[in-house]
This record gives sequence, structure tokens and C-alpha cells, in this order.
Amino acid sequence: MAWVGGAVAAAAAASRRCAYCGNQLDAFARFCNECGHEVPKPSKYTVLILSALVAISFISLFITMLFI
Ligand SMILES: [Zn+2]
Repeated sequence: MAWVGGAVAAAAAASRRCAYCGNQLDAFARFCNECGHEVPKPSKYTVLILSALVAISFISLFITMLFI
């Protein structure tokens, strides 16, 4: 299930950019490591997408177990 974690991390990383300098940020970074600008918390939309991805990963795991 490594690909699910990768997809979640990629989705989180893609949605996390510094508004000031555009530097890509860690998913849970509070400050930009390039310019030090404070980064707003992830939006509700981002949280919703991440929750959906986690839910999908659990559902696919459950479905996989049904067929083993
Ligand atoms: Zn920055």
C-alpha cells in the first residue's frame, strides 16, 4: 500500500506552497524554509481531499482482504 501513502504525500505537497515566494513546503510546515514567511494552515479543502484519500485507501485495503 506504499503507493497510497505516496499519493497522499504528493497531494499534500502539491497543495502546500508559500504564498510569498512560491517555494514548495512540507505538508505540515508552519513556516517557509526559503523566506521564513508564515504559512497558513491547510485549508478545509485540502483536509477534505486528504481525508477522502485516506478513506479510499482503507476501503481498497478492505476490498483487497475480501479477495484473499
Ligand atoms: Zn517562502
